[in-house]
Amino acid sequence: MKGSDVSDSVYDVLVIGEGVSGLTAAQRLAQAGMRTATLEAQLFGGLIVNVNELEPSPAEHGVSGAEYAAGLMQQNAELGVESIQEPVTAVRASGGLFEVATEATIRKARQVVVASGAKLKRLGVPGEADYEGRGVSQCADCDGPMYQGETAVVVGGGDSALQEALVLAEYCDKVHLVHRRDRYRARPDLIEQVQGNAKIAPIWNATVSAISGKEMVQAVTIKHADGREEQLACAGVFAYIGLEPNSDMLPAAVERDAAGALKTDAEFQTSLPGVWAIGAVRSGYGGTLNDAIAEAEGVAQAVHRRLT
Ligand code: NAP
Repeated sequence: MKGSDVSDSVYDVLVIGEGVSGLTAAQRLAQAGMRTATLEAQLFGGLIVNVNELEPSPAEHGVSGAEYAAGLMQQNAELGVESIQEPVTAVRASGGLFEVATEATIRKARQVVVASGAKLKRLGVPGEADYEGRGVSQCADCDGPMYQGETAVVVGGGDSALQEALVLAEYCDKVHLVHRRDRYRARPDLIEQVQGNAKIAPIWNATVSAISGKEMVQAVTIKHADGREEQLACAGVFAYIGLEPNSDMLPAAVERDAAGALKTDAEFQTSLPGVWAIGAVRSGYGGTLNDAIAEAEGVAQAVHRRLT
């Protein structure tokens, strides 16, 4: 196991991930008197920081994902939750405790909550990596204004694809929504909004097989289910084709589903007792902000019961 320095102090709970689920769990654990720290590989907030307006809003007035996450960080700091900006490379059971390793340090904890979330899947087609930041994006809220009056292509048929197509339609003249089947899997209210938006044009039973251009993206290749291919001019390509759980830091023996998400029991404990999983890294996670908060509250209660 990597990690040069071994820290002697033992945390009650180490929470991996500073997304909404991890931050909320840490908050509840600290409120219950547990010595808690959160570890984060990137910037705090997780996937929610790319959402300009949370809906339904967890606050009385509208709030952005970034503001909401910043509020949680602030409350945690006041509660004495330590925030550690280091990617976790491994977790293992050792002598009745757990060792949580980063490149620099091994820290010990009595319990571990994995709330490391998931990253957006990539299309994996030619041109995608080449045009990253030059027409290929996965943040409609951040990059949408750059596509004022342009044509964009969104790939996917779930909540994210439809939600982000609606965001892009606020800026773009045309949004092609490319879905590999003939019906969406998204929430009915999102489907209704998309169907009622004249700027959004569905392309059914099709995928994007390549992205091309010069300095910037100029077109995608649309591959239809019957094998037919056509070029479609566009300035932006946004793929929302699902999530890939960040579960690599746990031993291979910890049970996962086919997508790599961690399996848990009803109390959010993984197959490794003392290691718990919540949020997008967990198999069966509902996906909404309310789900993230409910799982965080549930795991905090279960971990607290285990330790007292
Ligand atoms: P998702 O629900 O897994 O949907 C992924 C979509 O991409 C599906 O329509 C799927 O097609 C398609 N797809 C998968 N692989 C593909 C490929 N290689 N090429 C082309 N298309 C592909 O993912 P998501 O929309 O990101 O949502 C993830 C979770 O977050 C869900 O639980 C969702 O409810 C939640 N979420 C909630 C909100 C909200 O509450 N406001 C917003 C966004 C997301 P098939 O339909 O054929 O499988």
